[in-house]
Amino acid sequence: MKLVFASNNLHKIEEIQNLLSSSIQILSLKDIGCFDEIPETANTIEGNAILKANYVTEKYGYDCFADDSGLEIEYLNRAPGVLSARFAGEQKNDQDNIDKVLRELEGVQNRNARFKTVIALNIKNEQYLFTGIITGNITTSQKGSQGFGYDPIFQPNNYKMTFAQMNQQEKSAISHRGLAVKQLMHFLTT
Ligand code: IMP
Repeated sequence: MKLVFASNNLHKIEEIQNLLSSSIQILSLKDIGCFDEIPETANTIEGNAILKANYVTEKYGYDCFADDSGLEIEYLNRAPGVLSARFAGEQKNDQDNIDKVLRELEGVQNRNARFKTVIALNIKNEQYLFTGIITGNITTSQKGSQGFGYDPIFQPNNYKMTFAQMNQQEKSAISHRGLAVKQLMHFLTT
């Protein structure tokens, strides 16, 4: 089965292809000749996943899934949430975003946070949503160098390591994206 994943993020495509069985071949946007800047203008994580999946299905006619994720920090009323990529500005810089979170939580006791992924799947003219959540806390300093985004400051509950101290397999086994993809895979294979 061939399915378009509405992304050009090689990190994610690889992570997701590793999680899916080999009977499902993932095509990237590049693979289908889509070089458009797909709008991500919804104000929820769910809304953006749906926008992206619908864009590809409506314009290119493919069965497709799209994901959208974000970090929700309790003390910041669930910010940055849907704005996670551009929390510190339109330059979408990971280090700037991390610095901003650490500044805003300086001296703050409540460091509870969670990552959330929503996958929207358009298949055979139906739409399905899958949600994965991992809870944890924001560390007081950066640890580790693997992964991307906020990984160096996110420590999942019951773990002594941040996401950036885990290898991709360890992270995917428990991550928000991993959990959402497992649901997608279960759906596609049953
Ligand atoms: P996206 O929707 O998956 O592109 O995620 C939006 C933003 O949320 C990313 O640019 C990161 O800043 C953050 N984010 C999402 N997933 C992760 C993750 O697994 N680790 C660290 N940051 C993440």
